[in-house]
Amino acid sequence: MSLSRLARSIAESPTLRLNEEARILRERGEDVINLGIGEPKNRAPITAILSAASKLSSGDVKYTPTDGLPSLKKAIIRYTEENYDRLPAPENVIVATGAKQAIHTLLFTLLNPQEEVIILAPYWVSYPEMIRMVGGVPVVVTPEDGTFQPRLKDIEQAVSGYTKAIILNSPNNPSGMVFPDAFVADLVAFCERKNLYLITDDIYHKLVFDGKRATPAHAFSTRDIDSSRIIVINGISKLYGMTGFRIGWAVGPRPIIEIMVNVQAQTTSCASAVLQAGAEGALTGMQSFVESLRLTIQNNRDVVMQELAGVASVVTARPEGAFYCLPDFRYYNGDSVALSEFLLKKALVVTVPGKEFGMEGHLRLSYSGGVKELTEGVARIKWALDPNSPNEIYIGDRKLVRDWL
Ligand code: PMP
Repeated sequence: MSLSRLARSIAESPTLRLNEEARILRERGEDVINLGIGEPKNRAPITAILSAASKLSSGDVKYTPTDGLPSLKKAIIRYTEENYDRLPAPENVIVATGAKQAIHTLLFTLLNPQEEVIILAPYWVSYPEMIRMVGGVPVVVTPEDGTFQPRLKDIEQAVSGYTKAIILNSPNNPSGMVFPDAFVADLVAFCERKNLYLITDDIYHKLVFDGKRATPAHAFSTRDIDSSRIIVINGISKLYGMTGFRIGWAVGPRPIIEIMVNVQAQTTSCASAVLQAGAEGALTGMQSFVESLRLTIQNNRDVVMQELAGVASVVTARPEGAFYCLPDFRYYNGDSVALSEFLLKKALVVTVPGKEFGMEGHLRLSYSGGVKELTEGVARIKWALDPNSPNEIYIGDRKLVRDWL
C-alpha cells in the first residue's frame, strides 16, 4: 500500500501502546499492575464536572472561537498572571485539544523544513516525533556525566545555523528532575542572545516536592510576553487529573499565537465546548485540589524510592517533581525494551523502556497511581530480577515460582 513515507516513519506512542496492552491483559483477567501511564487516579474536581455538565445540559454545544471560549481564556490569563507574573492579552493565548496538540501546532507554526529543535535527554517521547512530523529535525542533547541534568555548555555546542527552538520540560518527564534556577536563567539568557525560541512545557509545574519550586522561565527575563522568546505550554491533564478532558494551551507572542490560530482553524476548528467549560471549572474552582494531589504524589515518590532501594544494584535518581522516576537497570539488562517486555510477561508489571526517552538501560516507572499497586509492582520487579528475593510470589491467588535465576 502506498502511504506517506513521513507518516509511516512516525513511531507509535509507546506509553499509549503499553497502556493498551495492559488493558487487554486486564480484560483477560490478568492481574496487571500498570506503572506505565502517567495519569493521576483522582476524579476530576467537582467544579470541573459541574461546569462541563452544565454546558452539556444547556444543549448549547457549538463551535467555540478557534482560540478558545473567552471565559476559559480569561481563566488562563488569570492563571498566567498568578503563576508567571505576566499579564497576557487574549491574543497571547490559544486553547488546544491537550498540551500535546498545542505543542504540535506550535512546532508546525515555528519550523521550516530542516530547521532544528533541541531537546534534552531524557525527553518526553512525543517531542522528536512531533518535530519530525512537521518537517523539522530533533537534535538531542544528552548529559555526558550520566545524570539527568542538562548543561548549557552541551546545548551551546548543539546549536547550529538551523536551530530554531529549545524545548524545556521541568519538572521532567521521565526523570522527575526539576532543573536548577541557575540553569533555566542561563538558558533564557542564551535564547535571548541567540534569538532562539524557548518552549517551556510546564504541564507538571505545580507537582514539585520537598518545598521546592519550578521557577518559570519568565522569571529570568525582563521582557514582556510579546517581545519574549518564551512560549509557555500548560494544561489541566496532570495538575487536575483531567487527562481525558483533552484541554491544554499555549501562551506566547501575538504573531505566533495568531498563526497557531490559523493552523488550528484548519485542523480541529476548536477544542470541545463541553470540555473547555470543564477546564474553566477546574481553573476557577478550589485550588487546594492541586495541593492535595501534590501531597499524595510526593508520598508516592517516597514509597517508590523506599521500595526501589530494596532492589539490589538498581540506582534511582530521587525525583523532585512530576510523577515519574527513571531507575537505572543496566546491572540486569542494558536493553530496556527487552527488560520491559520481560517484566510484563513474567511479573505482569507495565514499565516504559528508557530507550523511548533517549535513556537506554533505564525504565520509567510512573507513581501517579495508588500506593498498594506501587509497592506490589516494585515487589514483583524485585522478584523477577533480584536473586536475593524469595523465588515464589503470589499474583492474586496464583503462586508463581521463579525458575530463571
Ligand atoms: N508534555 C508532557 C511532558 C507530558 O508528559 C504530557 C502527557 N503525558 C503532555 C505534554 C501532554 O499533555 P496533554 O494530556 O495535555 O496533551
